[in-house]
Amino acid sequence: MKQTYIQSSFKDYEDIPGFDIYQRATAHQGYLHYLKDNNFMNYRLLATSGCGADINLAEDGYIKEGNYISFVCNDYLGFTQHPEVKKAAISSIEKYGTGAGASPLIGGYFEFHKELEDKISTFFKRPLGSAITYTTGYTANSASLLSLLKKDDIAIVDMAVHASVYEGILGTTTKRFLHNNTEALEQILSVAQDKYRTKMVIVDGVYSQDGDLAKLKEILEITHRYGGVLLVDDAHGIGVIGKTGRGAMEFFNILEKVDIITGTFSKTFGNVGGYLVADPELITYLQFQSRQYAFSAAATPIVAGVNKAIDLIDEEPHWQEKLWENIEYYRKGLQDIGLNIGITESAIIPVKIGNIQKNSEAGKLLLENGIYTNPIMYPAVSMKDSRIRMSLMATHTRAQLDKALNVFEYVNKKLDIAKPI
Ligand code: PMP
Repeated sequence: MKQTYIQSSFKDYEDIPGFDIYQRATAHQGYLHYLKDNNFMNYRLLATSGCGADINLAEDGYIKEGNYISFVCNDYLGFTQHPEVKKAAISSIEKYGTGAGASPLIGGYFEFHKELEDKISTFFKRPLGSAITYTTGYTANSASLLSLLKKDDIAIVDMAVHASVYEGILGTTTKRFLHNNTEALEQILSVAQDKYRTKMVIVDGVYSQDGDLAKLKEILEITHRYGGVLLVDDAHGIGVIGKTGRGAMEFFNILEKVDIITGTFSKTFGNVGGYLVADPELITYLQFQSRQYAFSAAATPIVAGVNKAIDLIDEEPHWQEKLWENIEYYRKGLQDIGLNIGITESAIIPVKIGNIQKNSEAGKLLLENGIYTNPIMYPAVSMKDSRIRMSLMATHTRAQLDKALNVFEYVNKKLDIAKPI
């Protein structure tokens, strides 16, 4: 049985023919035991301090209680711990309490929500009324897409888009194109031409596993040439990419031309929630037609922290500068060891290992030596693409990065993890 577990992944337990929910849960439990017994259980580790460049973990199996250098937090600019962001969230709680009490359509729409929508519209250089917020970044994609795209429409998606997009396009016709392959995209659009009411092309700005950027300029040109609508989810680009932190769209100088932008408050903005930016009429449509928005309670007053985080992107650009110093230093350090970091152009840094077993061993050895990373395996990436995934932060110190690089050198000596490029 153990032999089979080695090649297993969580995906294998999503649906097992003939198994009812309890039998499936039992089979799943067996897999979790295998992970735990072999010290590969790097999921749901219990943290006893806040999100940041270092973090305290509770004791759990082979994991010792203590402080770890952390590369698992997507709080790229460190705003979850910024005093001004905390202050904004606390004063909002003091003024409004801890909850919104209703969905936005029936009593749960407060001035801090409106202020946030206005700030997002302005941040993306659109007229007021161009933004809707959701209570997660996930639903900013899934719930809005479920509402916008029906079976007579088509979603044309880069195969590497986030799971939330895949969920959102379950009710529409779907075509996937090879990652960042603009010829494949054009081929699909040319065949789709007059067959669908809306042709929506959906890409990420920064891809969450390889950290590479979409070829946005070409994608926008092709999409518009064939009468399509472009949606860019730049969850990992905002605050990180572009001269003023407006993401991959700013980097490619197309910020004002993208039809629909989605993103999250859970990364650079140091909170939880998500947003969609588009033509104001489309925003109003979603306010009334998007079921998750209309039938679910609005964000808590804590979301006012995002208002301050948005300001800080312009007011304190040194965080983005520090982040890039860290990215360049760390990337070079990993490459000097001989490790394969792929084609990243962002704060997401993978160390590509390939072999699933070695990848798990590497994650464990890193953790044993005080470095907390995310070992990523199928189905998040393909079978041969296992990697250690890391998010860099502006608040990582040079000493922390040096310690992590030393541990990587040690892990490479022990496991020979340098995958050919
Ligand atoms: N889009 C992308 C590209 C993501 O990586 C994520 C989550 N990591 C989301 C959307 C969902 O955002 P959230 O975690 O805020 O729900």
